Amino acid sequence: MILASPLFQTVRIRNKCAACFRQFNKIEHLVEHMRTSYHSIHEPMCGICKKHCRSFESLREHLIGPLPKQECKNIFNLRGCKFCLTILDSPNARRIHQERCQFSSGLIGRFANLGFRDNLTMDGYTREPQVVALACKMIGGGSDGSLDLCGKVCIIDEHENMIFHTYVKPQIPVTNCRYETTGIRPEFLRDAMPLKQVQKKIQDFLCNGEPMWKIRPRAGRARILVGHGLDHDLDSLQVEYPSIMIRDTAKYPPLMKTSKLSNSLKYLTQAYLGYDIQTGIQDPYEDCVATMRLYNRMRSQVHRREDCPLASDPQNRNNFASWRQNELERMSPEEMMALSRSDYYCWCFD
Ligand SMILES: [Zn+2]
Ligand SMILES: [Zn+2]
Ligand SMILES: [Zn+2]
Ligand SMILES: [Zn+2]
Repeated sequence: MILASPLFQTVRIRNKCAACFRQFNKIEHLVEHMRTSYHSIHEPMCGICKKHCRSFESLREHLIGPLPKQECKNIFNLRGCKFCLTILDSPNARRIHQERCQFSSGLIGRFANLGFRDNLTMDGYTREPQVVALACKMIGGGSDGSLDLCGKVCIIDEHENMIFHTYVKPQIPVTNCRYETTGIRPEFLRDAMPLKQVQKKIQDFLCNGEPMWKIRPRAGRARILVGHGLDHDLDSLQVEYPSIMIRDTAKYPPLMKTSKLSNSLKYLTQAYLGYDIQTGIQDPYEDCVATMRLYNRMRSQVHRREDCPLASDPQNRNNFASWRQNELERMSPEEMMALSRSDYYCWCFD
């Protein structure tokens, strides 16, 4: 029944990766590819051909360009959301969806009404664990003003309410307030809260009564911390926080440009939320809101639940072990895919 070159056909189909559709001449090369690619159901996926992509950026390329897959692009143009890259049922459904998917920047008016809050032990923020976002605006220290010092810090809750917002008085002299972007003047810092005090307040607030060494994901009172490039922010605040509690939009693989390169928060907000930030004088509140919106969008992705979702979970350690090579080479691409697990923690687990 099989017509031309049956062997060639079988080989081709058998050696096609079930996730990214790359094809391999030899089955052992596909096994090697699966061993190192950590494909999973948590990867961004094309709603049309079901191809898995490492990041939303590569999915965007697949759907929009510069080198799109033509069939997918055509359907995407009709009923794809250009922000979250989901495919809807009809052009009309897309229109309704996209209106909800795009955020507006209408923050400035709201922000003006909030004023400054520097008390981190307010009612309602002392109890159960929750997610908060933090951002700093940096001013300059050192002889040439290039040393980043935190001049203003903001923390918000999941509903974009400001919890903490204050100028910070650095421990070393400020040589450049970077007024054009920060809107900070030297006199604002004169009576500002000293860095040591800010550090202690934030540290206590994040840990929420939990000793640092005891903090475990999903098991205690410590809060999940959202931000963009948080290493730098926490450094400047001299705050230490365990990485298991950190959700950084600069380091989350689906939101990165490549496996090593982050996207800027400005770009992510424009591309995935549909509005502009960081124009003119900037407030850290705006960055907090953008990171929280990105976090909520990533967290609300619907992915299948798995008992042991990470490649590093003990149950998965041997999935692609070299001593299983023969067994793996007899598997279909789909069977291999079923064994494959993610190498990053997907935020849909939160
Ligand atoms: Zn693949
Ligand atoms: Zn997921
Ligand atoms: Zn596709
Ligand atoms: Zn959308």
